[in-house]
Amino acid sequence: AVDKEKVNSVAKIKVVVRKRPLNKKELAKNEEDIIETLSNSLVVHETKLKVDLTEYMEKHEFVFDAVLNEEVSNDEVYRETVEPIVPIIFQRTKATCFAYGQTGSGKTYTMKPLPLKASRDILRLMHHTYRNQGFHLFVSFFEIYGGKLYDLLSDRKKLCMREDGKQQVCIVGLQEFRVSDVETIKELIEKGNATRSTGTTGANEESSRSHAILQLAIKRSVDGKESKPPRVVGKLSFIDLAGSERGADTTDNDKQTRMEGAEINKSLLALKECIRALDNDHGHIPFRGSKLTEVLRDSFMGNSRTVMISCISPSSGSCEHTLNTLRYADRVK
Ligand code: ADP
Ligand code: MG
Repeated sequence: AVDKEKVNSVAKIKVVVRKRPLNKKELAKNEEDIIETLSNSLVVHETKLKVDLTEYMEKHEFVFDAVLNEEVSNDEVYRETVEPIVPIIFQRTKATCFAYGQTGSGKTYTMKPLPLKASRDILRLMHHTYRNQGFHLFVSFFEIYGGKLYDLLSDRKKLCMREDGKQQVCIVGLQEFRVSDVETIKELIEKGNATRSTGTTGANEESSRSHAILQLAIKRSVDGKESKPPRVVGKLSFIDLAGSERGADTTDNDKQTRMEGAEINKSLLALKECIRALDNDHGHIPFRGSKLTEVLRDSFMGNSRTVMISCISPSSGSCEHTLNTLRYADRVK
């Protein structure tokens, strides 16, 4: 009963906004910080032009579960988002943390440290509170690029997805590593991040078109029988989403880019619908809308938790993208 209370005390959906500082490029262009933040709300000050070309300001106010300003550290982001979820994945819960936003808004900067901090806490619980209870931690890391799956811990080997009879998602051939120390996890995360699509045009360009998915699975040997394969108890997924502006690449001259843009657009729309459906328990969850949501299917069913971290740039030059990101986050809530 105490455990059930612990699970129920964590909100099903949490939407957090993180604003990054102005960068050198934006400062060099004399761009201004147009985002005013409070603890759980923010105001975007948009400059608009009248027909006679005189300027006027329009204010857009948004309220979220938390707004993290440019002074907030990665440690504090962890405390606000993932830390409260860690204990409940030992209680048959699946949880997902997304980083959403335009390219350059801070998704990877925000997401990268979270799985490591989470695994540190998971291992601590495993080695103390749940000592000798047959729990094991497994790590996998893959990406979805153009609607296809690639293993980031196995030289981008192409993977395919299958559903078993119990509506569990199975990614055929995905490498899963059993880990028992933080150092090994750190190496795996670094390896995976280095393997992300980087193409020839530079890291951010290509990785902005892929969703990177790192999963921490907690499994338990049944009745202490080490001979049987351990069963999944809970799962924590970290998803560094494709740049939200890429979904608009549907009119690009390059066919490949257009197709990738359409796939990204589809997946971000489907994701929004799936998260919204989590709020009413008996609702239909439209996960068949895209590869991303199909892969996450089991994380949207049953006892699940979702944290959305919407990353925004503070600069006037990004105003339109920022408003799009905040409107998306607002719809999820
Ligand atoms: P994205 O993954 O959304 O494309 P990145 O995470 O790569 O964006 O961030 C773009 C740049 O901004 C990087 O150089 C990153 O180090 C920097 N940056 C992002 N967020 C912050 C922050 N909160 N504080 C300081 N620098 C940041
Ligand atoms: Mg990135």
